[in-house]
Amino acid sequence: MKASPTQQADLLSLSNLDLEITRSRVALAGLTSGEAFTELRAAQRDAAGSLIDSRNQLDSVELELKRAEADLALVEQRIEKDNQRLNQTSSSKDAQGIQAELETLKKRKSELEDLELAVLEKKEAAEAAYKTILGDKQTIDEELAGKEAANETEIMKLRSGLDLITQQRAQEASRTDAELLALYEKKSARGVAVGRLLNRECGACRMTIGATALAEITALPQDEIATCPDCQAILVR
Ligand SMILES: [Zn+2]
Repeated sequence: MKASPTQQADLLSLSNLDLEITRSRVALAGLTSGEAFTELRAAQRDAAGSLIDSRNQLDSVELELKRAEADLALVEQRIEKDNQRLNQTSSSKDAQGIQAELETLKKRKSELEDLELAVLEKKEAAEAAYKTILGDKQTIDEELAGKEAANETEIMKLRSGLDLITQQRAQEASRTDAELLALYEKKSARGVAVGRLLNRECGACRMTIGATALAEITALPQDEIATCPDCQAILVR
């Protein structure tokens, strides 16, 4: 088939646009798959789970503390009451009984104070753990949000770029001779349709063309379409 050097150059340009469209589509598919976020999203889920566990632990320690405080308050009330009774009684027998009870209560109070201290320490540790996990989760959240936003921007850029190239491609295709375009599309369906002949290499398949075939190609008139013997692409000289 015949084609002027300009027509051949136009085919090469069309082929370059098609390659760019393919590259953009592949990149777009990669970006929209969200594959890049799999690890971070898993880390985010883990952190959210850890945060709930940690919050539950803190809640249960806080409950434990409230119980210890309530128990202590109760014992303190009873001690106060016993002290009042002790002051009011005139019976030494009663006084002995109250004093014995006071001893027990004081012992119990001391135990509860120790317990309260231990629970307070536990609460401090649980609060620190919760803060750490919350901080870790916030870091992951921010990193993920930032990356997702950047990804979204990249997708928009690629999409608008792809729109432009697709329009340009349609315009160039509409200016191409119908028969030539049909040949181009047929070759396109099998692979890269056009390649520039550079030194002895086919720009479409990157194979080095043998001396005999090369001699035949270079002997062809400029307006005759040359074909790569390896990939059948149109060779633009
Ligand atoms: Zn080739």
